[in-house]
Amino acid sequence: MKQERAMIIVGAGEAGTAAAVALRQGGWPGRVILIGSEATLPYERPPLSKGLLTEGEDSGPKFLITAQRLRELAIDYLAGVNVLSIDRATNTVSLQGGELLAYERLLLATGARPRTLGVPVDPECRMVTLRTYADAVAIRQTLRPGCGVVVIGGGFIGLEVAASAVSRGASVTVLEAGPRLLMRAVPASIAERIKAKHLDAGVRIELDATVAGIEAVEEQSLVSLADGRSFPADLVLVGVGAVPNVELAQAAGLAIEKGIAASDTLATSDPDIFTAGDCCSFPHRLYGERVRLEVWRNAWQQGAIAAANMLGLGSAYESVPWFWSDQYDETLQIAGIYSNSDAAVNRDLGDKGQICFYLAPGGRLVAACGFGSLATISKDIRIAETMIGRRMRPDPDALANPAIAIKSLAS
Ligand SMILES: Cc1cc2nc3c(=O)[nH]c(=O)nc-3n(C[C@H](O)[C@H](O)[C@H](O)COP(=O)(O)OP(=O)(O)OC[C@H]3O[C@@H](n4cnc5c(N)ncnc54)[C@H](O)[C@@H]3O)c2cc1C
Repeated sequence: MKQERAMIIVGAGEAGTAAAVALRQGGWPGRVILIGSEATLPYERPPLSKGLLTEGEDSGPKFLITAQRLRELAIDYLAGVNVLSIDRATNTVSLQGGELLAYERLLLATGARPRTLGVPVDPECRMVTLRTYADAVAIRQTLRPGCGVVVIGGGFIGLEVAASAVSRGASVTVLEAGPRLLMRAVPASIAERIKAKHLDAGVRIELDATVAGIEAVEEQSLVSLADGRSFPADLVLVGVGAVPNVELAQAAGLAIEKGIAASDTLATSDPDIFTAGDCCSFPHRLYGERVRLEVWRNAWQQGAIAAANMLGLGSAYESVPWFWSDQYDETLQIAGIYSNSDAAVNRDLGDKGQICFYLAPGGRLVAACGFGSLATISKDIRIAETMIGRRMRPDPDALANPAIAIKSLAS
């Protein structure tokens, strides 16, 4: 096969789209081919559990790029096309339909998919997960005053859908298998605040609730727990985490560890193949460990860095992780990564919210997690992010004292 070798990107989500644009902006003169299995223009996922469910009209997906901009940048976008395999001996990918495309460098930005529940589910049940615009539309169409929604999983997606559904007048129950909400993601005191918000809004929350099965009963779905209780629903939303889409990489013999294993420059175990976003794991210099992140900002930043490195730049990816979630009129923001061995310092901002800071042994600030009004939380989390990146060791008493501005500790 004699064909111009292109920069090929598999996966047209946040990471893949950012990479396609960055390849052009970085001066790649040849073909850029962006291939995505979804049939629409690339779009943002965060609104799917928030505005898209609550707005009066469905204004459609929030596109990451327009068709005109794709044309201007001469990015060939293959929508609704699956990449089936990678042949590393010939540097080619095969597409659904049989076409082979040759790559100079390849980026795998295949994202993640919802984890399945792993219990018996009657196929007649109205059970959904939420990853795509089509999933969000299916949820949106069911939400109406009085409809019963059971959310399985008290993580971010489950809680955002619960907040959106109750604001549309649905009667919502959250079933969480753990002893508290957001067990792996936020400190207990912040999880309590979030829980209180949900209870105030009328959401019912059941903890230590292990789902045993879901069956269809007349027009409804009946979610049964291991302890014998059951909950009828018009719609069951399963939000029990996500698994990285590694199968394409795995079949090509690339190293896999927590995700598609990358170096700090986002190269895989094949120097011609890079990876970015939810599908990949990488060694994080600030934390001295391999991490995989499922967060929006990481996806687009990694897409851009991977593109630069596909062009030979060799930059390490070392941004401080940052995540947000909106629930009701409050925001949750997390900078950095904390672990159970880190010491927590609590800054109580009264009605305005709360920030938990995490210090590694030796006093280095490694994470900050805040919940409250956007105006209060976002500024301090942004400053904390800078302090984390600079490996600062702020005085814990000053961090805890709301009378001392966080900004004054950052210099
Ligand atoms: C409902 C929801 C709400 C969210 N809210 C927030 C939030 O509030 N804050 C936050 O920080 N993050 C949030 N996130 C996470 C954030 O959206 C993701 O981290 C980000 O979208 C990941 O981007 P990605 O490009 O890595 O993967 P994806 O967006 O998943 O894109 C990967 C694409 O690759 C395609 N693909 C996979 N395999 C192939 C193949 N073989 N051939 C062709 N195409 C393929 C997939 O179909 C998909 O379209 C949310 C996610 C969801 C689902």
